Amino acid sequence: MKVLKFGGTSVGTVDSINQVIRIISENKQPVAVVYSAMGGVTNKLIEIGTLASKGDTKYLEVLQSIEERHFAAIRALVDVKSQSSIIAKIKGNFNEIEDLLKGITYIKELSVRTMDLLLSFGERLSSQIITFILNEQGIKAKYIDARDIIKTNSNYGFAEVDFEETNALINAALAENNQVYCITGFIGSNKDNITTTLGRGGSDYTASIIGAALGSEVIEIWTDVNGMMTADPRKVKNAFTIPDISYSEAMELSHFGAKVIYPPSLVPAFLKNIPIKVLNTFESTHAGTTISKEINQKGYSITGISSIDEISLVNLQGNGMIGVAGVSAKLFGLLADHKISVILISQASSEHSICFAVDPKSAENVREILETGFKTEILNGDIENISIQNNLSIIAVVGEGMKSSSGTSGKLFSVLGKNGINVIATAQGSSELNISVVIKKKDISKALNAIHETFFEIDGFTLNLYLVGPSGQIGKTLLKQIAQQSGYLKKEKNLNIKLTGLANTKKMLLDSNGIALENWKENLETAGEKINLSEFITDIQTLNLANSIFVDCSADKDIVQYYYPLLDSNISIVTPNKVANSGTYEEYIALRNIAKKRNVKFLYETNVGAGLPLINTLQGLINSGDRIHKIEAVLSGTLSFIFNTFAAGLKFVDVVKEAKEKGFTEPDPRDDLSGTDVARKILILARESGIKLEFNEVENIPLLSQDAMSANSVDDFYAVLEKENSKYESLLSEALAKGEVLRFIASLENGKAKLGLTSVGRSHPFYNLAGSENIVSFTTERYFNNPLVVKGPGAGAEVTAMGVFADIISLSSFLA
Ligand code: ADP
Ligand code: ASP
Ligand code: MG
Repeated sequence: MKVLKFGGTSVGTVDSINQVIRIISENKQPVAVVYSAMGGVTNKLIEIGTLASKGDTKYLEVLQSIEERHFAAIRALVDVKSQSSIIAKIKGNFNEIEDLLKGITYIKELSVRTMDLLLSFGERLSSQIITFILNEQGIKAKYIDARDIIKTNSNYGFAEVDFEETNALINAALAENNQVYCITGFIGSNKDNITTTLGRGGSDYTASIIGAALGSEVIEIWTDVNGMMTADPRKVKNAFTIPDISYSEAMELSHFGAKVIYPPSLVPAFLKNIPIKVLNTFESTHAGTTISKEINQKGYSITGISSIDEISLVNLQGNGMIGVAGVSAKLFGLLADHKISVILISQASSEHSICFAVDPKSAENVREILETGFKTEILNGDIENISIQNNLSIIAVVGEGMKSSSGTSGKLFSVLGKNGINVIATAQGSSELNISVVIKKKDISKALNAIHETFFEIDGFTLNLYLVGPSGQIGKTLLKQIAQQSGYLKKEKNLNIKLTGLANTKKMLLDSNGIALENWKENLETAGEKINLSEFITDIQTLNLANSIFVDCSADKDIVQYYYPLLDSNISIVTPNKVANSGTYEEYIALRNIAKKRNVKFLYETNVGAGLPLINTLQGLINSGDRIHKIEAVLSGTLSFIFNTFAAGLKFVDVVKEAKEKGFTEPDPRDDLSGTDVARKILILARESGIKLEFNEVENIPLLSQDAMSANSVDDFYAVLEKENSKYESLLSEALAKGEVLRFIASLENGKAKLGLTSVGRSHPFYNLAGSENIVSFTTERYFNNPLVVKGPGAGAEVTAMGVFADIISLSSFLA
């Protein structure tokens, strides 16, 4: 006889009960069906019991809502004419519950024994109702209260089964082969017929006990997901079904939190070699998971990942523990005596300390037990310290495949490291079936997703992008480029770029599922909230996604204060914004140090020369041991254009006006002509060359007169230029007389940076510059007589966005 078990979610609503009936009726042979309480009812019963024990009459309200849920199901599923008998029966159950709760309020005490009785009503109610509905629909069904067939000891809440008696009772009670048996999950009774329960989630266990007793060909666990998955689908969106899994793997996964099956359930089935299928009530044609001895090779090095969200880590430390046999024996003896279950143990080989994970609810209790149990050892100093760390989680990476392949733990620790997730403790079973790590609770989602991506998502690596400044030229162009190129990146590089956040000067939007690149503008407009930059940053930190990159395409001064905290939260930064790198030297160094410490990247190739490979080239030279003797550069597209255009017969002011009209200048051309921007760029190049330099140490030989700089408006400024035309004319004619041209050059030599207008002759590499080109020449130890020259367009949205894009892509190989 086949055994089916339907969990709380499968019997939780009218629709789901209809599915259950359909699934049962599709079985041609007789079946034994185990039911949980309606979803959430067990928790509610605990709640009302606790309220009643405190004398709080609010329990009546909650009880009322539980009652209503059951009656609503009856009303919806049973014909009006036939309802009375089942309503009377269920009402009788609720009267019993009420009496019980009244008793609890009187004595203001709720023992584990009474709790078990109270909880038993959950499965009794659901099972009676479904039995009735089946019969109503012409499917012959018999209700069996599991307390009559499952015998246990008196360990209330976690009763242990007496298999000999239980197996006999099951076989006797389920002897007929002509009906559907409807059995309450989760509950049993002791030899005095007092109600017991098998532990939370115990209905799975009931099904396995019955299946093993009957020698069933299969035990089907019907739940709300498509079988056991590579990770909890609520936590890892890309989790997928594991088609076949061994009993031991399933055991490890469920022990470490995969709630989809209750760990003890695996044992009876395993002992009788009965496969367990985990199936989805809401997608009944899906093949789900088969748990059995024989498993097919899967093609991944691990089988699944699971986690326990909340644990406490107890650490016992002391020199007296070294080489003293028996400390751990005593420790675990004490814990066992007090029925404390230990989730994970890790001992340093120095034997100086031993740490273990327990449920946080028992952590303080554990401290007391140990302080009492090890009183002598503490007094004489053999044990120095018992400490407890809270707010931690465990992740377990599970798979038989680890035995045959090396490198699983390397890969695991590497992905955690790259994402800045600190491993607090670790344990690896000698069976090599499981590696578990203890991490901070706040990192759990990030860790699970990053590990899942590393081990399972051979279909692509995902970068999560937060972009500030999408509405500016560079930001806008970057988004366009990413949208155009994403197909190629996916196909050729297995790379997904997901836009997870956007912020402009008005609005901000975060979406961990990704904001569509095609209509980011509408999304930001309609779904975005009013901008609050500090909130935006905190939200990014809290979201804590793996492989996060913060892209600052603004020219904002205020935003750079967030760079440090972002890097500190293991988020890499890519930016064309020069403000951070041209602030104080101390800040410049601090950003690099924190990036190094957190093992993330701070990339800013586009700070100088837009998309031209300048920073990378310079870093390459330095990293490979070259020494910089001199850097000379034309670093402003605007100034380059102006002096390329300024020719005999032209007025300087007209050239400036033309540059502005062509969109080559800032709204106020003095922002370019003052040289401040160029000063920032040469400062950055100097710092990249290893020189400690501050902005005010860059010597800027002013091009404009004091009058020109202080003119009140751009028009006034033009008037001054007009007046001073002869000065510019003579600068030009002097140069031309020597056969030279004017260039606004920044240079770095002997640790000094300076900039100003000079003239260069035909032999100078800067003589031939066209339009708004930038040029940089590096004279180094290796490129001594013949400098390394980089030349090309050094401004413009397309090339700058391209440079930012290239930085982003370079991060994929760093993070993957
Ligand atoms: P039921 O009420 O049917 O007993 P449970 O809530 O006890 O269902 O277990 C099913 C839930 O287990 C799923 O909804 C899922 O969120 C969770 N779960 C955790 N880990 C896994 C996993 N690895 N595979 C599938 N489900 C998992
Ligand atoms: N109803 C019980 C619980 O919620 C048993 C089960 O669902 O398996 O724990
Ligand atoms: Mg369950």
